[in-house]
Amino acid sequence: ENGSVAFLGLGHMGGPMALNLVRAGYRVTGFDVVPAAMEAARVQGVPVAATAVEALAGADVVLTMFPSGRHVLDAYRGNPGHPGQPGEPGLLAAAPPGTMFLDCSTINVDEAREAARLAIEAGHRSVDAPVSGGVVGAEAGTLTFMAGGDAAGFEEVLPLLEVMGRRVVHCGAHGAGQAAKICNNMILGVSMIAVSEAFVLGEKLGLTHQALFDVASAASGQCWALTTNCPVPGPVPSSPANRDYQPGFASALMAKDLNLAVNALDSTGVAGQMGALAARIYDRFAAEGGAGRDFSAIITDIRGASEP
Ligand code: NAD
Repeated sequence: ENGSVAFLGLGHMGGPMALNLVRAGYRVTGFDVVPAAMEAARVQGVPVAATAVEALAGADVVLTMFPSGRHVLDAYRGNPGHPGQPGEPGLLAAAPPGTMFLDCSTINVDEAREAARLAIEAGHRSVDAPVSGGVVGAEAGTLTFMAGGDAAGFEEVLPLLEVMGRRVVHCGAHGAGQAAKICNNMILGVSMIAVSEAFVLGEKLGLTHQALFDVASAASGQCWALTTNCPVPGPVPSSPANRDYQPGFASALMAKDLNLAVNALDSTGVAGQMGALAARIYDRFAAEGGAGRDFSAIITDIRGASEP
């Protein structure tokens, strides 16, 4: 029989992920601090509770899908509240010992390790399993999960992750899932900028998009940013460039992931100049109106900044 899951964070990703667990026969109780998010999930068919602690009752797994590591650590620890306002009880203290804490949010590697340490200290188990694949993948149950934790913890959450995703990779110890995710997305951010600069340079040199694509896609410039998410319309008909850069993978999320990578570069002392520059480029693009556009729209920024 399938287990019982407290699903906390029913946003763009969490809502459809929770629904897939319900459809697969898991006993899911959802909760979100934003009533509208919770109502949207409830209408879709996800049972919900009035508080996080209520959602935890009887749960074998506490799955979190929050915006950031701050949200995860605050929820794990609880907060004392403000004068005249009740505090939130911490999830770690509210759950019976031995509960599996499965965090699928994209957060800092250091925060993921801290979350695991706190969970284990409280007598629980923990796996970090951030995802790629976006809202489309969440709805279709085709996400990729990158998991960090011990082998026993990984085995325990694997069937659950396989309901929500198509690929599940055990990347190593606690935090390794986050590490794999941000390293991958650092490659992606940097390579998208490089591909975009090359197309704009090609335009100036009188090269057609198709000619550059035909050469680079079959040569050493080949990469996902070119052959799947091509930043110019035409060569890859399914890429966001063909629909006015509707995401896809929004630039705001790329900026977020690159900043997590920069934090990791800083905390490890790695001289990652391209990653740091890519973070600045996407930060500025997101702040100047590009936030909701696919990250391949960075080419419009490069073209716009070039001499006419
Ligand atoms: P979202 O903002 O839509 O959803 C997060 C939800 O968490 C919100 O509804 C928020 O109210 C809720 N929340 C925050 N604190 C809470 C608490 N203490 N208790 C209960 N609910 C709480 O974000 P999203 O797009 O669903 O992304 C979730 C995570 O997945 C992020 O870390 C993001 O980086 C990552 N991610 C997103 C995508 C994507 O395409 N959207 C893709 C891959 C990874």
